[in-house]
Amino acid sequence: MSETNENLPRDTQWLKERLSFIIASYFPDVAQGYPITVSFGIRARYRFGTIIARGGQCIIRLNHLFTDPEVPLYVIDETLAHEFVHYAHGFGSGLPRLYEHPHKGGIIEAEFERRGFTPTHHKAEAWRKQHWAEFYQSRCGVPVDSQLRQVTATPVQWDDFMNQHTCRTTDELAALFLSVHSRLGIQETPEIQNVGWVFATTRQQALSYYYPKSKRVNLHGLLADRRVPESVLVFELAYWIIRRHHSGKWERIQAVMAQKGLKKTEEEALAWRKKSWMRFRNLHHPLNKL
Ligand SMILES: [Zn+2]
Repeated sequence: MSETNENLPRDTQWLKERLSFIIASYFPDVAQGYPITVSFGIRARYRFGTIIARGGQCIIRLNHLFTDPEVPLYVIDETLAHEFVHYAHGFGSGLPRLYEHPHKGGIIEAEFERRGFTPTHHKAEAWRKQHWAEFYQSRCGVPVDSQLRQVTATPVQWDDFMNQHTCRTTDELAALFLSVHSRLGIQETPEIQNVGWVFATTRQQALSYYYPKSKRVNLHGLLADRRVPESVLVFELAYWIIRRHHSGKWERIQAVMAQKGLKKTEEEALAWRKKSWMRFRNLHHPLNKL
């Protein structure tokens, strides 16, 4: 199954043709609901595609990272097919709703099976399992914004630092971010899609930074060091999640933290920042060790 030139740039037009091909090949019997607009959305760690209905239109968006030729075509196909199964089931399409929940009960897999799409599904799943984390880190693990680039120091020393086995990995940070999220009982913060590290200069002293353009929160790279208590990382992440979700007012942020049982974490984190952060930075900052 190909039909699309693999060497073409993956732009909106290309994606549109790809979706048409998938529909014609695997879903020719599905009724026409809302007209579909398909495009690449934002870069995301945990989201491959979305489908929504808006004003009598169906909008399908794919992870922007899929424009990268390193992501196999069958991964894009599988994501498009997944979203189109939602469409066929009446989610985002205006068609009659066939199920109560878009995913429960293996209804997507059953639809794939019925339509001979299971091999592609398995191939895509295997690729994601084997390569996604590393691919994601290779593209997003280091800051990409121009605003970040300006303040990013020569990362060689930082590279060495981050590669020490004593350091928390980007995946660990992402997992921690998710756990803080669920601890706060917040379903999602659309304004925060990515977490990572800042390869800070010696002048950058904040423990965390928020980048609205890339919907990213980065923690100071030194927080990857396991000698920094986890409560410090939890506090920084919780701070941004609450701030983007509820309010920017410090009293409100504190109130939510207390309400979610994070009072102790907050106290510990603030105490560490006050007592130890400057010393820790002076002692361990990779750029101090030239
Ligand atoms: Zn889905």
